Amino acid sequence: MQRNFIANASVASASGRSIPVLDPSDGQSFDDLQRSDASDIDAAVQAARASANTGWGTLAAAERGRMLTRLSQTVAAHADELALLEQRDCGKPVKQARADAAALVRYFEFYAGACDKLHGETLPYLDGYSVFTWREPHGVTGHIIPWNYPMQIFGRSVGGALAAGNTCVVKPAEDACLSLIRVAQLAAEVGFPAGTINIVTGYGHEVGDALARHDGIDHISFTGSPKVGTLIQQVAAERHCPVTLELGGKSPQIVFADADLDAVLPTVINAIVQNAGQTCSAGSRLLVEQSIYEPLLERLGKAFSALRAGPAALDLDLGPLIRQSQLVRVGEFLAQAAKDGITTVAQGQIAADAPAGGFYQAPVLLRDVPVAHRLAQEEVFGPVLAAMAFRDEDHAVELANATQFGLVAGVWTRDGARQFRMARRVRSGQVFINNYGAGGGVELPFGGVKSSGYGREKGFEALLGFTTLKTVAVRHG
Ligand code: NAD
Repeated sequence: MQRNFIANASVASASGRSIPVLDPSDGQSFDDLQRSDASDIDAAVQAARASANTGWGTLAAAERGRMLTRLSQTVAAHADELALLEQRDCGKPVKQARADAAALVRYFEFYAGACDKLHGETLPYLDGYSVFTWREPHGVTGHIIPWNYPMQIFGRSVGGALAAGNTCVVKPAEDACLSLIRVAQLAAEVGFPAGTINIVTGYGHEVGDALARHDGIDHISFTGSPKVGTLIQQVAAERHCPVTLELGGKSPQIVFADADLDAVLPTVINAIVQNAGQTCSAGSRLLVEQSIYEPLLERLGKAFSALRAGPAALDLDLGPLIRQSQLVRVGEFLAQAAKDGITTVAQGQIAADAPAGGFYQAPVLLRDVPVAHRLAQEEVFGPVLAAMAFRDEDHAVELANATQFGLVAGVWTRDGARQFRMARRVRSGQVFINNYGAGGGVELPFGGVKSSGYGREKGFEALLGFTTLKTVAVRHG
């Protein structure tokens, strides 16, 4: 039985209720989590406040950096253990789980180095005044984490908050808690003051909602669905609590006729197959210049047919989806596509020896998806790629910007001037030219426009969001 982690101690929830932990590779339960409620959140907030006042919040910036360095080192030493937990808990193929553990190490490393580089400014003002700014932590930050990349999203969100001097109350997704509980334990083992990182597990509408409503939470970071993002915003607005939202996307990969198709092909496939398509920045729309549409689809179709989904431990092209309801959701999108006459170009396979109870979805390539169709507008969060053709650059921009989202875009062309024009004209938080994701570097600010959310995570930019700026004006004559 897993427990909450509050004030550096493993504790049961007040309710004594539990939630089963399922392995998505076979659908079987192998552990239990605490089903916490508002009273557990309250205990965690109190612990975090105590650390903000007398523990973590009082450490010199350089000392915070040393502690985060120690945490990155111990996470690196336990990377295999953490990757195995994530593999079992989330159904991630071995390579992906290991990559996520490595990314967590990098986030802590990066933010360890950033702690003592975060500073205010002196400002020119009237004669007789000296004016300067301080970057102060918010205090206690709340982090609501989704199930698709628990370690990575914890790293970018909690890592940044800690570096800026905040203490944290974390609500992992009910489907993906194990690795994060372990990371909090590791932080305690390397000497983090009690209450600095607190983990409270449970359902979103219960414990997530309680976290968002708690008046002891000074800032909320949320990654997840637009629907819940709206709820968080509404609740936070009641007490004017600042919020950072990362709400996913419907990101386009835009391929011009002059692109290097040998580079395009594997990248386009990886961008939708990675993590079984359950990635906020998945390249889920493929926009192709008319003259190369047919040959590119032919090559992609062959590659899609060869893709295989199977149990995480087999480390195939993709693992299972996170849970049954997600499988049903993806199935509904595909049924709608079939009903509306959308053509399937190709479909991958599910490994013959995949356990019957696992949540497997073979990758699917669809063509000529109308821009207004929900397959071209909504986040499927599964390995489903919607292809469509464009006439020219203006049409490509029009299609790229024709959704409510704006998180990431990929542009493939050898024309240098067009690269810059496209980067300017596409509305999204990140644009990648002749690549997609740039290896996910922790240094690169990440976040969206429109319904993809606001605020930035990752990189140095994220630190600014985890602080509040105080202006001090001294009149000295
Ligand atoms: P979700 O938004 O319900 O869950 C994300 C997190 O929010 C979880 O920790 C959950 O427990 C919590 N939560 C849920 N309801 C809450 C509430 N009322 N108050 C506070 N916290 C709450 O996402 P989901 O239902 O797990 O997935 C549904 C869809 O959301 C997916 O199909 C996908 O399209 C999208 N999604 C996007 C991301 C992303 O990275 N942007 C991540 C997960 C899911």
